[in-house]
Amino acid sequence: MTASELLSDLRGRGVRLWVAAGELRYGAPKGALGREATRLLAQHKVELIELLKAPPSEVPIAPLAPRAAARTRIIDLAALPDWNAEEQVSYIRHVAPYRGFLYRQLGLDKTFVRGEGCSLIDENGMRYADFVAQFGAVPFGHDPQAIWDAIDSVRREGRPNLAIASISPVAGELAERLLAVAPPGLAHVVFTNSGAECVEAALKLARCRTGRLGVLSTRNGFHGLTLAGMSATDKEFFQRGFGAPVAGFNYVRFGALAELQSLLELRPDYFAAFLIEPIQGESGIHVAPPGYLAAAHALCQRYGVLLIVDEVQTGLGRTGRMFACAAEGVTPDILLTAKALGGGLMPVGACLYTRAVFSEQFDLRHGSTFAGNTLACRAALATLDELTKNDGRLIRQVAETGERLQADLLQLQRAYPELVKEIRGRGLMLGVELDLDHVARTQSGLLAILQQQDLLLYLSVSYLLNIEHVRIAASFTQGNVLRIEPPLIADAAMCEQLIRALGNLLRVLRDGDTGALLGHLMGTTPIDARQAGTQVAAEPSVLPSATEPARAGRARFAFVVHLLGTSDLRRFDPSLESGVDDAQLERLRARIAAFIRPFPHGRLSVCGADGTRADGELIVLPHLPAELLALSGEDALGLVQEAIDLAAERGATVVGLGGFSSIVAGGGLSVRAPAGLQVTSGNSLTTWAALHAVERACADGGPRLGDSAVAVVGATGAIGQALSLLFAERAAKLILIGNPNATAASLGKLHAVARDCERHTVALGRSAPAIEVTTRIDDALPHADVVLAATSAVAPFITPRHLRRGATVCDISRPFNLTPRLEAERPDVRVVGTGLVRAPAGSSLGHLGERDRPDVLVACAAETIVLALSSFAGPHLCGSLDVATIASLGRLSEALGFSAA
Ligand code: PLP
Repeated sequence: MTASELLSDLRGRGVRLWVAAGELRYGAPKGALGREATRLLAQHKVELIELLKAPPSEVPIAPLAPRAAARTRIIDLAALPDWNAEEQVSYIRHVAPYRGFLYRQLGLDKTFVRGEGCSLIDENGMRYADFVAQFGAVPFGHDPQAIWDAIDSVRREGRPNLAIASISPVAGELAERLLAVAPPGLAHVVFTNSGAECVEAALKLARCRTGRLGVLSTRNGFHGLTLAGMSATDKEFFQRGFGAPVAGFNYVRFGALAELQSLLELRPDYFAAFLIEPIQGESGIHVAPPGYLAAAHALCQRYGVLLIVDEVQTGLGRTGRMFACAAEGVTPDILLTAKALGGGLMPVGACLYTRAVFSEQFDLRHGSTFAGNTLACRAALATLDELTKNDGRLIRQVAETGERLQADLLQLQRAYPELVKEIRGRGLMLGVELDLDHVARTQSGLLAILQQQDLLLYLSVSYLLNIEHVRIAASFTQGNVLRIEPPLIADAAMCEQLIRALGNLLRVLRDGDTGALLGHLMGTTPIDARQAGTQVAAEPSVLPSATEPARAGRARFAFVVHLLGTSDLRRFDPSLESGVDDAQLERLRARIAAFIRPFPHGRLSVCGADGTRADGELIVLPHLPAELLALSGEDALGLVQEAIDLAAERGATVVGLGGFSSIVAGGGLSVRAPAGLQVTSGNSLTTWAALHAVERACADGGPRLGDSAVAVVGATGAIGQALSLLFAERAAKLILIGNPNATAASLGKLHAVARDCERHTVALGRSAPAIEVTTRIDDALPHADVVLAATSAVAPFITPRHLRRGATVCDISRPFNLTPRLEAERPDVRVVGTGLVRAPAGSSLGHLGERDRPDVLVACAAETIVLALSSFAGPHLCGSLDVATIASLGRLSEALGFSAA
């Protein structure tokens, strides 16, 4: 057992090891260390100290527990009300329930029923140019006659396909042919069924040959998703939760020779192999710097480390050479190839290696049932025929087509320099790196929001697929890169289609043309923003975060909001004002809502009458009220907590909870406020605004409060309770109305509110009003002179028949409790104060302002701003309210220049 293996074994038993003052120390759970382990510990003490002193990236074992959340968030399908896996097609139901969901939501769920050359054809007969080509595994298009013929030949000849432990002339012939086209000096071949299996074989071979454990690979590389391939793939996205990397895997930066050298120097006898791609594909097409492979090989030779070049993707013509490493004049110790080898029809890979690497042990003990089967080998032989015929014309053509395509892409970059960061690659393995953050930095519409959520790249791919009929892959894990890898037979016309498609995409992105980019997800015909005459506000949609210099002397606030209706989306995106109806907009919202986390929006600023200033922003939850209420309590609370944490992260000192965010967070009591952040439900000022509006209406020709019956609809809520107390001081009679859908619980709470009202008035030295408690709204409400509505109902329910003649009504619920046409239908009813206040002159409220009155905002948001401007703090800003705090905040708001609207 090597020291490394011992270390992983000990860690697996829960033993903690560390070095203190140069000595090996350890702590073990009772019984974890047997006599043998203790002996090995003593025996390998020196090596263990060396291993433990190595840099942190060398820790050989990763914890199985999930690591900190990555940029990729996994959505819990079971929690989605609109997604029923059982209703999906069998592929999604049984094979890919989660990926199927993602494909569906993003409009990537095509079913291809035919493949012809470089095109795939869907069920509706629509043809798509395939620039993915299975990441290079489809070299000759989707109907490669020569490969089919080779497969047919096996049948015609009656050859056995599988005859393990015998001599296979076809596999032998293939090995010979492969070695002949590979860089000189390779002597043996291991056949496999996939690229990842090639990596497994190569690593086993290297460890077996050298007797060492360590494997070095490059940061951001990709080597497949088996346990070893994934361990060599330094990406949290692929490794998290799978116990990777396993023992012995370490990484260096791609292209960094000095780093490679110092690591090899640090541990001269540790590494068996250095595994590298000549062009990193998955992470966005990064070409190794010139001379790197050759210099790395020389270094490896100096330290007895085997160089494994992974040409699973780059090999067999993809880069305009048979193998990319040949361009560097490098013959690695081990060379891997797969993907294209099967000619687009058969799964087959090959691991080629030198005579010096040969190991009897490996040859005897490595194998796989299907590896080297006759069908796969015949397909591979035909592939080599195709690549080498006419003196390798196809590969020369790849180099030429790739060069022309790269030149055209560079021209696109010149036309859209702000959106295209870089064009990279070789042959027909090209990457277009987009600067989609430019959209987020300079625009204020939905596209900017989608980029903040890391969705714009995938939606761009969806646009290319659905509107331009071009199938293109995006880098999953790194940057905003489109990967262009058509079949090797791609011609000029296909490349022109791509350039046109990308040009259109870039124009749509530059114009912030949401309708054009996402029309296919709404079920509209593509809308051209310029034809529709819409304009995109060319300004960033968000405040700089706190990490950027704060504006001196200004407080910072945030207000959490959610959508009240789908049409609210238009507030965030002027390009959706025309050409898209509400149903289409809802189709889009429903598709993307599950992906979107709370996001910041808007640049608000308020100047108090006393000269104090505050900047703020909205933190938006893209959910409708009913959706928030349908979430499990934990999920809804988690969402609000995320919004609060985001606000704190971005520098807010006060955050207000608007609408249902306050309700699902128990009026703010159920969330954690990070240090230095004051959370408020905003309910005190809402209550004050309602009281103020009703008092003013009464003074202004309305009923005399002292003679009136006042109904509080929703009297068990925080605002309802506070209003009950306040009107108990003022009214002749109180009618406290609770939720008819939960009568028993409601009545208990209503009685408690009634008792509070009595105590409150007695404490003030007044007599208590008559108090009626009920959930029978139909019977009780028509008796009220004044109606206050403060509920969390998701739909209006107070109709004209509920109101007596001449009633005064104040509805501060959102969404409103009054039916929309009530005022028109009952002109005798006086609707006053809807929980709104006017901000001080010179305020800029953005979307917080009412549509028709930009200086008016909901009182709960005003309270947030009042707290930021005044630094007022108190214990009653969340949960149940306190009449003294309500009065203080009311006075404070007036002093700062807020007034009832
Ligand atoms: N190595 C490289 C460089 C690859 O690009 C890939 C696949 O994309 C693999 C290994 C894994 O190949 P497979 O998917 O056939 O297992």
